[in-house]
Amino acid sequence: MTTQNPLPRRRLLIALDRPGGDTPLVSVLLPDGAAVFPDILPAVRAVADTLQDEARRTVAELGQAVTCHLGCDACCRHLVVLGEAEALALLRTLRGLPEPRRQQVLARFQAGLARLESADLLPRLFAVFTREAHDWRHVAEMLAAYWELAIPCPFLEDKACGIYDERPLTCRQYAMTSPPAACLDPFGPQASLVKVLPPVDLAGAAAAFDGEQAHASRVLPLLLCLLLEPRLGRHGFPILEPLPMLDRFLKFAAGHYSRKDPPPNPQAKEYP
Ligand code: SF4
Repeated sequence: MTTQNPLPRRRLLIALDRPGGDTPLVSVLLPDGAAVFPDILPAVRAVADTLQDEARRTVAELGQAVTCHLGCDACCRHLVVLGEAEALALLRTLRGLPEPRRQQVLARFQAGLARLESADLLPRLFAVFTREAHDWRHVAEMLAAYWELAIPCPFLEDKACGIYDERPLTCRQYAMTSPPAACLDPFGPQASLVKVLPPVDLAGAAAAFDGEQAHASRVLPLLLCLLLEPRLGRHGFPILEPLPMLDRFLKFAAGHYSRKDPPPNPQAKEYP
């Protein structure tokens, strides 16, 4: 189930121009007038879906297949991180849910936060993600610690995403070719996950872009969106024409390097 964005929108067909490659067409919905970057995320999601389809086709040409299937919700128990623009859009989606679903999702947010608190992970997550520059070494540790708690995403309903059309870019870019059983032990010594790499990391790019220019990447855990809401967007999103803004974002994303986590450092035990 999805919510409607109140901004009037117009549909456009755009071609993704990539040197040396084909130019896939994407149908996008853009605000019909000046807007901020969170408002053009539906168009960014459409591009992400097109690129992900392309990645799956490439995998198929190599004789492999994506093993993700409806009913497998392992990835929805990971620590999903998203940029501020996406966090604001997600909160808008949450507020637009009809009752009693909205209250049910809010209750799952509270239950998840209580679980983090009882495991003493909430202050650590908070510390890692409220700094201007995230220490990716700590983030890698947080990913494993969060997984251990098996907290389902608040939007997970009946083993499926309850906001599928509006799910974050990170979720859209997540697909595996390893056997589904591998998803149940992603951090163990026998971990054997094989991820389909998206051709462009749009989630990472969106976390480092304000609509006009790039800045230091600012991401936060999905489960902390409500807690951190007062801090979201405090740097401001300039109000701009949507199509040039999308164009700038795609150009930035094309040159944006996917983030790589450094190898785990066993000495890294101190938290700020
Ligand atoms: S937003 Fe949807 S796809 Fe993403 S983790 Fe939550 S339930 Fe899963």
